[in-house]
Amino acid sequence: MKKNISFEFFPPKTDQGRDNLKPVYEKLAQRSPEYFSVTYGAGGSTKDRTMETVLELNSAGLAVAPHLSFGIDGEQEIENLLSTYKEKGINRLVALRGDIPEHLNRSDYKYFAGDLIEFIRNKTGEHFHIEVACYPEIHPDSTSFESDLKFFKQKVERGANSAITQYFYNSDSYFYYVDACHKAGIDIPIVPGIMPITNYESLIRFSDACGAEIPRWIRKRLEAFGDDIDSIKEFGTDVVSRLCQRLLDGGAPGLHFYTMNQSKATLDILDKLK
Ligand code: FAD
Repeated sequence: MKKNISFEFFPPKTDQGRDNLKPVYEKLAQRSPEYFSVTYGAGGSTKDRTMETVLELNSAGLAVAPHLSFGIDGEQEIENLLSTYKEKGINRLVALRGDIPEHLNRSDYKYFAGDLIEFIRNKTGEHFHIEVACYPEIHPDSTSFESDLKFFKQKVERGANSAITQYFYNSDSYFYYVDACHKAGIDIPIVPGIMPITNYESLIRFSDACGAEIPRWIRKRLEAFGDDIDSIKEFGTDVVSRLCQRLLDGGAPGLHFYTMNQSKATLDILDKLK
């Protein structure tokens, strides 16, 4: 069975970042990914940068999936974005609730990812293949595994075609989650999200914020490397490539890489896979 790979970027903040991204996507494109995705922040300038990056990849002839969330936008703004993407021949989206804008009260925030999926389906029918996020280690806002699973199932019922997981370093959490999804009647592909390990501090900070667990043995090993970046990268490539191999061997339909706009770490992992 063919295993698809996809690569995620965030929209660069600076001209330098934009220039740096070109050689990155050119190298990654040589691995024939199914698509590249570009993250979306609900704030104004971030949104514009997402569109810029999406259009650049699209002009380079690459399949691209913009991430999208309501954020503070009205329905008209989202509808305009959908029309632009459709006109450009884009046919895949990653639909999210997104991180709630800081100035909004969390309890007042009314949109979940499922509402966006329904909106997209109402406005554009079956034009877009809709990817959604899911959480083998449970979304941090969720009250329980069961409630998170229930809402994931609702996203599928409202029109999601496939899912990408939050990253994790424990393959059992993925396999257990996929089994639970199947038992609950969720039958869309669930692609593991893979975060290469290249930097200790940022990994810990990011993981604490998004609820991804770094196993103690990985944390301790990384901590012990201190400023020795080369050892961190070597160890990270080894750990993550073994994780990827186990996931693929165990039936994962593909891999989605959170590239952090770098090619080397992802390519090093891919090179180690059978
Ligand atoms: P939802 O599916 O809406 O779920 C959010 C929480 O609400 C969960 O706890 C869920 O159980 C619960 N819930 C869902 N539906 C309901 C309901 N109807 N009633 C009550 N509770 C409900 N963030 C960004 O800002 N930009 C990005 O581009 C981005 N890309 C991402 C890509 C991937 C693959 C992943 C895994 C995450 C990404 N994120 C991004 C982070 C994501 O936005 C956050 O994890 C966010 O907190 C949840 O988004 P979601 O779409 O999973 O939300």
